[in-house]
Amino acid sequence: MTQVEDCIFCKIANREIGSEIVDERETAIAFRDVNPKAPVHILVIPKKHIPQIKDLGPDTCEIMGDIFSLINDIAISEGISQTGYRVICNIGEEAGQEVDHLHFHLMGGRFMMWPPG
Ligand code: AMP
Repeated sequence: MTQVEDCIFCKIANREIGSEIVDERETAIAFRDVNPKAPVHILVIPKKHIPQIKDLGPDTCEIMGDIFSLINDIAISEGISQTGYRVICNIGEEAGQEVDHLHFHLMGGRFMMWPPG
């Protein structure tokens, strides 16, 4: 597994630091956000260190399949698949990306504003 030293999400994926893991696939893992902004707030990440969407390509199709398979299954298991939910990926400074390891926020359990602030 490709790991970047000092990447907190690499450490979570490798279970070097604790987190509330919800589910995983061979190439992706989902865990609860430590500072939730909605009743359901789960982060879904590749286990391999991929910084941003721009770093995806034909060689990462399996990873993206695993990520969206997790998102679909977790939306069902968290009881938000019928009521609605949001999948967010912040890319770069102006979008507010804090952790430089690709991650998708799966958020639900409340009404959301549009557009996001
Ligand atoms: P972003 O601003 O899109 O980079 O989102 C990073 C998210 O990671 C934030 O919602 C943080 O609350 C969350 N986060 C940071 N550290 C941890 C951690 N150790 N465990 C779980 N979530 C974390």
